Amino acid sequence: MGQMFKIRFFAKFLLMIVLYLLVLLRKGKSIGQVRVLIFHEVLELDRFKKVISFLGRDWNFITPSQFIAFNEGRATLKGRNLLVTFDDGFISSCHAQNQVLQPKGIKSIFFLATSFIGIDSYDKCNLFIKEQFDVDQYGFEHARFPMSWREANLLSDSENLIASHTATHPRLSDISLTRLKRDIDLASSQLESEMQVFSQKDFAFPFGGISSIDRESFEFCSLRFERIYSGFRGNNTPNCKLIFRDSINLNEPLFYTKVYLSGILDMNRSKIFKILGCKEVAS
Ligand SMILES: [Zn+2]
Repeated sequence: MGQMFKIRFFAKFLLMIVLYLLVLLRKGKSIGQVRVLIFHEVLELDRFKKVISFLGRDWNFITPSQFIAFNEGRATLKGRNLLVTFDDGFISSCHAQNQVLQPKGIKSIFFLATSFIGIDSYDKCNLFIKEQFDVDQYGFEHARFPMSWREANLLSDSENLIASHTATHPRLSDISLTRLKRDIDLASSQLESEMQVFSQKDFAFPFGGISSIDRESFEFCSLRFERIYSGFRGNNTPNCKLIFRDSINLNEPLFYTKVYLSGILDMNRSKIFKILGCKEVAS
């Protein structure tokens, strides 16, 4: 297992070096970008700080309201722009915002799996992460506890946006529409009762890959929300319901972020729009 991991790590490393060289060769072509980052738990704040500073050299961080104005076609954005989002609701993402992003004036969107929020027992937390996030919990760390509702409200008070990531984090393509509706309703009612302010228009679907959403669940979410945040890598354009996002693994070498954000690994947009049955709106 360890050997296999090493082989995969080096294979990816070599591939990323080749891609990075290709990116350098076509430098200058990636202007007029609006990309969205996804983070989850942040186990090391120093590492997170390093990644944010590295990205800040080439990119301008925008606020959730700037991104929404751009998405709704009310504002244009020039240059290379990045929005930060955190999925799931880990307490460590709250610390990353308060200790690293807030001092730099960067605001984020937090997509909360609402039934995860406020769990304060080690066993329940471990079980939720294992069963709902589908992550095996070896080496459990405090950073993987969820934030509390009080902390979520404090984030919102500091101009961060709080939004739904379902209640129990199911794979939407695996469940019935009835269960999907029940889960999204539960998340909405938990947000309504616990939050002073939150967005009813923004929603990130769990897992984010193309196998975790299908046409039926996408259609349902489209009727319910204005913007659906995915895990598909890509640039964003105005008036588009589907939001493309780049997942960033904090353990990977820094130059990987340049490869991801260059667009060289972006998924085929027309293919995604075809699978989900949504129309691409010309920008
Ligand atoms: Zn998630």
